[in-house]
Amino acid sequence: MIRSFLFGLVVVAVMNGVACGVDNQVRDFLVYDVDSSTQQYRLMRSRIETLDNLREGRGSVAKLRGGGKANIENGNPETEQEWAEAIVVSGDSTPDIQVVVRDNGVAMPWDFHSAMMLTLYHHLEQASLFFDSLGVSPDVVGTMRVYYNMPITVNLWMLPLPLVTDNAAYISTIDAFVIPPQVILNDVPLYANRGVVVHEYSHAVFNRLVDADRRVPVYALESWDNLVVNERRSLDEGVADFFAAVAVSDPNFLAASISDAEELGIDRDVSVERLYDAALRASVQSDDLVDYDPYILGSVVASALWALRGSTDADTVTSAVVGALNRIKGIDERLTLTLFFDFVIEGLPADLQEAGCQLFAMRLDAVAGDLACVR
Ligand SMILES: [Zn+2]
Repeated sequence: MIRSFLFGLVVVAVMNGVACGVDNQVRDFLVYDVDSSTQQYRLMRSRIETLDNLREGRGSVAKLRGGGKANIENGNPETEQEWAEAIVVSGDSTPDIQVVVRDNGVAMPWDFHSAMMLTLYHHLEQASLFFDSLGVSPDVVGTMRVYYNMPITVNLWMLPLPLVTDNAAYISTIDAFVIPPQVILNDVPLYANRGVVVHEYSHAVFNRLVDADRRVPVYALESWDNLVVNERRSLDEGVADFFAAVAVSDPNFLAASISDAEELGIDRDVSVERLYDAALRASVQSDDLVDYDPYILGSVVASALWALRGSTDADTVTSAVVGALNRIKGIDERLTLTLFFDFVIEGLPADLQEAGCQLFAMRLDAVAGDLACVR
């Protein structure tokens, strides 16, 4: 759908005889974004303010790189250096984004990859503005490297096999976003989904605030209890989904990209009521780093925060969450999910704290007795 739409655009551009060119002063672009009136993705006229070099996809928010590969050289790293060197990027190059500037000053991407790279940059800029509005300055994350169209491969057998397709990931050890090639074209590519980009940007924010900017998380190097590691990873996923849903005003922001979510076993709609019950608690306690699925408890976190909006507004909840993320920095292996929620409650206006306590106690059923407001 995207390809054919763009092909149509290019044909129109050629027929109109519009010149190709690169102008770093251009600020208005056609990018793929969600139309707030319909919640559908389409090519929309949008601003990008921070691109210093349009052709190379470089600006204060992100520096795009194209092609190459991210190879997992060590599947079982132990030391900090082994972790830092476990994934090696090679063969990447400077992109060559081509646009056609129309008479009205709007730059239209010339080809599919140009459209997707501009879309990606736009969404990252929007993500940085979103967090800036919550008090997390763009300087906190800084200029992210983004590897576009880069397969992630592993050194197994003779040929490296693509490990991930149709994904988008923040990988802390190389401090970069990796966007593997898109294979399925039925839906909006994950990296063109603004909610997904906010989710990934949130991981970079979590890395800076909670992991204290350490590229290799401490839990990978020390032998913490499964419970602590698993709750921490779920918290990272949960706040990322919450921020994404708030940023695009869509509790089921993944649906645009994953229409067959049920078949794929993906259940992340943050408007669904979810509980941290005894059965989930048991798996959080027992599963190790490899077996644990952080999204299940992550979705409990996201949906509890999302539900709190019902008693107030999104801004009040998001600022309480950012405040809590700042307060859990450095707590490391003493960090529990309930401590994070204690800080969220304390960050709410006084008249909301009781409602927050009741809601979180209900959702965090198995650990409710550990909440400070319940004890
Ligand atoms: Zn994630």
